[in-house]
Formats: sequence, C-alpha cells, structure tokens
Amino acid sequence: MYVNHKQKQFLTLTLIKKCILITFLCSIGLNQSLYAQRNWSNVTKDIEKAIQVDTIKKKGITLIYINKSNDFDRSVGDKLKEVFFTNYPKQMKLYNKKSTRQVIFVIDPDYDGIAAAGGGVIRFSPAWFKKNPKDIDIVTHETMHLVQSYPHNAGPGWITEGIADYVRHVMGIDNAGANWSLPEYRANHKYTDAYRITARFFLWLEKNKKKGIMKTLDTQMRAKAYTDDFWVQMTGKNVDELWSEYASNPQI
Ligand SMILES: [Zn+2]
Repeated sequence: MYVNHKQKQFLTLTLIKKCILITFLCSIGLNQSLYAQRNWSNVTKDIEKAIQVDTIKKKGITLIYINKSNDFDRSVGDKLKEVFFTNYPKQMKLYNKKSTRQVIFVIDPDYDGIAAAGGGVIRFSPAWFKKNPKDIDIVTHETMHLVQSYPHNAGPGWITEGIADYVRHVMGIDNAGANWSLPEYRANHKYTDAYRITARFFLWLEKNKKKGIMKTLDTQMRAKAYTDDFWVQMTGKNVDELWSEYASNPQI
C-alpha cells in the first residue's frame, strides 16, 4: 500500500499508540507479564534504599524481608513473617510442591497498590498497614499467587483471584481480626466478580458439589489445561448452571 507523508505520520502514530496500549494491557496482568516481572522482581534498588533486610530460613524455605519504610510498625512486619511461615508451606504441600522456595517481601512506600505478587516478590504498601494493621492475611492471598504461578493465558482472572481468596478464607490466621469475611450472596453477584464473591461460590462448590474441586481447578490452571468444560467434567453441570443452583440455595 502506498501512503503519502501525512498518512505515514498518521500510521506511525497509530502504531505507537497501539504499542503503548498493548504494553499497558500487558502490565496489568502482573503475574503473566514478563515485562512487568522484570521490573517488579528486581530488588537491587530496593535493597539500596532499605532500612532493614532480613534473611530468614525455615523448613527449607527462605524469606528475604526488605523494609524501605521508616515508620513501618515492626510488630506488623513480624506478623507478616509469621503468616508466611505458617501458611506458605501448607499451600505448597496442598497445591504445588514445586513452588518457589525463596520469596522476597518488600515493604515498599514506592508501591501505590495494597499488595501484589509476581516473580517470587511480594510488595506491600506500608500506608495500607498503617490504617489496617491487622490485615495480615493479605500474605495468605498473595503467597497463594506464587503457588499458583499460572502460565500466561491459563484461564480467566476471576478464577485466579477467586482461588486466592478461597484459600485466604480457609487458611487465614486472623481474618476476623481484619474484619475480613466472605460476603453474603446477593442477587447482583456474578461468579466473574472475582475475589470474595467468587471465593464464596468456590466454597459452596467444595462443600456441596465436589470435595477437592479447588485443588483440581488449580492444577488444571497451572497445566494450562483449563477449559469451560472443566465444570461439566467435575460436576455434570456447566458453570452457569452451577451458579444458578448456588443462587437458589447459597448457604455455606
Ligand atoms: Zn490477588
């Protein structure tokens, strides 16, 4: 196709915009994006800025704890470590024995979310813990993401987040203290809402439909073998039929 100078400029601009959009979209899926992971999991600069770096080894697992925040409550940090060494080995044993044996925590004032995991690194916002010092089972949710370590395009994001909150519900050390619980079912909920809403559906499935379904779902996701047919194979019903049944009798 022949194009004049103006058209060429326009096409180049469009291409650049497209690239920016693609880069942006890729960065959203932190667990899946190599681009984001490279920046996310490089802690060299974090260590330079750190006021405390601890290396703790227990049960064949190493936790490198990097604190970059001056006024981060030390007792909260101790709790985060305690939750890690209590729940991560359990999650590994139950879901994925090949999970990484070295995990890095960064208490990171430069990170503007609450917490996120990728490439063996979990970053936590000290501002969040200042307001919510008892929300220590964020660790339980985030370490489950390391155990999941699903390949790119393994399946829908609502499953990934639903499983992480399902595991937080089951294994959490002090969900009540953090005022964290699974919300009662409401008519406007959907299984694709992710997080706690999906987690409650998953718990219902585990209790009422098929014990062990979460473990199988997690394995299938990691093997990139998940398809919509998963639900039919496990329960005889598709996910919409299961959700309807759940909606009509959501007790857990
Ligand atoms: Zn998550």
